[in-house]
Amino acid sequence: MTESSADDIFLDAIKRLDRAALFADIDAEALLRLRSPRSLLEVSIPVRMDNGSLRIFQGYRVRYDDTRGPTKGGIRFHPDVHVGEVKALAFWMTCKCAVVGIPFGGGKGGVIVDPKQLSRLELERLSRGFIERIADFIGPETDVPAPDVYTNAMIMGWMMDEYSKIRRQRTPAVITGKPIPLGGSLGRDDATGRGAYYCIKELERIRNWNPSEIRVAVQGFGNAGQHVARLLHDDGYRIVAVSDSRGGVFRADGLDVPRAIELKNQGRAVGEVYSTRSVCECPVCGGDDCHCSSDDAGSGDVISNEQLLELDVDLLIPAALENQITAENARRISASVVVEVANGPTTSDADQTLIGNDTLVVPDILANAGGVTVSYFEWAQNQAGYAWSEDEVHQRLQQIMAQEFNNVHQLASNKQIDMRTAAYVHALNRIGEAVEAQGTSRFFAPGDDA
Ligand code: NAD
Repeated sequence: MTESSADDIFLDAIKRLDRAALFADIDAEALLRLRSPRSLLEVSIPVRMDNGSLRIFQGYRVRYDDTRGPTKGGIRFHPDVHVGEVKALAFWMTCKCAVVGIPFGGGKGGVIVDPKQLSRLELERLSRGFIERIADFIGPETDVPAPDVYTNAMIMGWMMDEYSKIRRQRTPAVITGKPIPLGGSLGRDDATGRGAYYCIKELERIRNWNPSEIRVAVQGFGNAGQHVARLLHDDGYRIVAVSDSRGGVFRADGLDVPRAIELKNQGRAVGEVYSTRSVCECPVCGGDDCHCSSDDAGSGDVISNEQLLELDVDLLIPAALENQITAENARRISASVVVEVANGPTTSDADQTLIGNDTLVVPDILANAGGVTVSYFEWAQNQAGYAWSEDEVHQRLQQIMAQEFNNVHQLASNKQIDMRTAAYVHALNRIGEAVEAQGTSRFFAPGDDA
């Protein structure tokens, strides 16, 4: 991602804020506060590499808005991390927590690194080094990180341990998405994909879908993409294409999703952090370790990520990175429904084309809110020193996702607006209530129109 496109992501995010503000019941002062982050920390992290040399990595942590509670948001390890992108992600987190009504504000963090190039020990040193640098910025009552792209439960465990050492007290509630034995919550692992799945189940009910007739393409086959694909596959949906950073695979009759997951994760031995296998290796490799063949029910054709987006499917699920559906390709999207599991997969200048084509977009701040919702459950369990069963987590998540999906859907229909704008309106109404509860100029300077 170029510097300017990363800055554009934040400007794009603010454009959507402005559009939603036209329909929201929110004081102008609250909107003003939402135009820029509360605080932003830039750090450099020295890491001793295995060959004895020293490398300095750059990282960011943004606390966007904490009116509704401690700021909450993931930490991304990626070579394209940019401060503009982190600000946009933190803004989206603010809106996301408000959409699902959990008592958090929004934050986000990132380190500029290609983590796949690091050894396990280097990765651990970098993870601990980042926490050492931001330790005064985060905390269970101030800012609570979580996993995001290329960070996972093991990394969260290292980070929690480092923070606990610095504070000289075990502090599991400082970070969520931890391994279960270190205070993680049952049901956190698949929460993002499951939350999106519960949204799709509501659509299924409203649109009277027969799952076996619904063709689905999933871009991005990591944590979020794999789980939503698996849950839909188990319900009889036809997952015709999946992809990862190296490309995708397409099969008109539907892919064998459990096997695609097995293959993708084969490259990840127990304890390994990143997968070295790609979903597109299977149908073409024909090698000794490949369990598919050309007449195998799980095999298919190799396609590019661009082709996947434009496939003739009913449901498109972008679950990788930002800026995938743009003004350039939006008119070629033929799916009638897009469920945004990734953060920011659609640029704001693509919105109108999708609306014009009658494409229903379930926006990221609603569709992928399952992750932060179960992170909230994890934080609450850590604070209370009590662990919930997996069924309890699923039940509570289903209740919140179905309720908020229907709130947003209803708002869109009442105000005759698209679902993205409705989700922002829903969030702004909640943030506005919190800001106004502290008093705005309507309270402090009544009758002053200046
Ligand atoms: P992950 O690291 O587990 O997986 C990312 C996947 O995307 C990998 O399969 C990778 O190969 C693929 N990918 C990377 N670049 C790609 C490209 N250019 N084209 C296609 N695929 C590409 O990450 P994740 O946790 O699954 O996150 C995916 C998206 O979901 C991100 O936008 C993230 O912000 C969002 N999200 C994740 C969570 C969560 O709890 N994990 C919560 C909310 C939102």
